[in-house]
Amino acid sequence: MDGSLSRAYYGTFNVANVSFGLPERSVLQPVWDYLLTNYQSTLRSPLFPILLSVSTYLLLVALFTVLDILAPTWPSINRYKIHPEKPITWENIGRTLGLTTYNHLIYIFPAAVGQWLWRPPIPLPEEAPSLTQFLLGILGCTILFDFQYYLWHLLHHKIGWLYRTFHAVHHQYHESFSLVTQYLSAWELFSVGFWTTVDPVLLQCHCLTAWGFMVFNIWISTDDHCGYDFPWSLHNLVPFGLWGGSVKHDAHHQKPNTNFAPFFSHWDWLAGTTSSFAQSYALKGRKKQGD
Ligand SMILES: [Zn+2]
Ligand SMILES: [Zn+2]
Repeated sequence: MDGSLSRAYYGTFNVANVSFGLPERSVLQPVWDYLLTNYQSTLRSPLFPILLSVSTYLLLVALFTVLDILAPTWPSINRYKIHPEKPITWENIGRTLGLTTYNHLIYIFPAAVGQWLWRPPIPLPEEAPSLTQFLLGILGCTILFDFQYYLWHLLHHKIGWLYRTFHAVHHQYHESFSLVTQYLSAWELFSVGFWTTVDPVLLQCHCLTAWGFMVFNIWISTDDHCGYDFPWSLHNLVPFGLWGGSVKHDAHHQKPNTNFAPFFSHWDWLAGTTSSFAQSYALKGRKKQGD
């Protein structure tokens, strides 16, 4: 294979170009056309990604918090809790909501206003991504984010000063619930927000894919912390134990030197930092649901 041919094969790879020979006329085009026709100025605003992520988070935590409030008196909900013996209190809700509100008012809102004032509106392409590009883009961003957060997380547990200064706040809760997801220091919130924004740019994703990844990332982060082990939870659907999910992340809150990866299991397998706690929970949960 000569140089130009090999460049043609290997030189232009990016996630956004992969199609695997599936139909190229995007099934997302009608949705994208509709959004462009009706909401172009909203979508072009630098404020839009922030509004999208804040509203996704609030909606998800509202749903899980309703379950948390009902769980102590509704056995049909409580049986899916990882710690059914530890109800979520109003004090838990108030404190976590308090820090989330503080972080949003002090850091996220000013950053949003700054973007709105100084960043020009984003140009939007006419064409939608193909469904394959959309899904592979989200998968690629999730794999990349998982690796970045794994390294950040490992470092912030191994170096005492980093742990005490930036990450310990998140570990104030040994049994997590949805609102613990963003019970974070400003530095952790910034790091997470930075990768969520930058990863779709690095993988040259369409903006629809970038927003899809943003919503997906918030969903799986909230699912990690929700404190429930539902039969339809992602970790029970993804085969071969590849997905960590709520049981494994709850084990991280119980035993903080294990299960550092936020979503997938492979980095903890490779590094030998998988917690056996998670397996015992999963067994306990299965027994409980089989009763
Ligand atoms: Zn956590
Ligand atoms: Zn941690």
